[in-house]
Amino acid sequence: MADPLEISQLGNPVLRQVAKPIQDVHDPAIQALIDDLISTVVGCKGVGIAAPQVAQSCRLLVVASHPNDRYPHAPTMEPTAMINPRLVDYSEETVKDWEGCLSIPGIRALVPRHRSVAIEYGDRHGHLQTRTLTDFVARIFQHEFDHLNGLVFLDRVERNQDIITEQEYKQRILPQG
Ligand code: ZN
Repeated sequence: MADPLEISQLGNPVLRQVAKPIQDVHDPAIQALIDDLISTVVGCKGVGIAAPQVAQSCRLLVVASHPNDRYPHAPTMEPTAMINPRLVDYSEETVKDWEGCLSIPGIRALVPRHRSVAIEYGDRHGHLQTRTLTDFVARIFQHEFDHLNGLVFLDRVERNQDIITEQEYKQRILPQG
């Protein structure tokens, strides 16, 4: 198992850059980065991670949905690497729900996201994949995809009052299910 990597924190300029497309997914350095991202997100018990969060400004993200306190019915996915992902289509309908980010510890916020998204990406073997994601998994994708464009979830919040600390989140929001 690869070593977990250090997470870039908000304020690090790498999180504000538009990440560059990956030219060759078979490059051993890219394959190693995929392994490291998966180890890191699993080690942090996260549900997703993007390469800029480990200071690599390239268009690669990992979605790793699994049930958690907030989403006990979230689907369990094998951590899935998505290379040069594209948002092809999305539902007009949006849903607001709570998000956090490994790069912004201690903070939660209510973020509106499209309820479903149609996406395309290259898998780690270089094959083009097309998928439609809904609900929690669609939310993960949109959060991680934003990281590739220099955005964080706080940029999507509608009002500052929708930003709270993790401690208050656990005391006030989580018990409501
Ligand atoms: Zn994040």
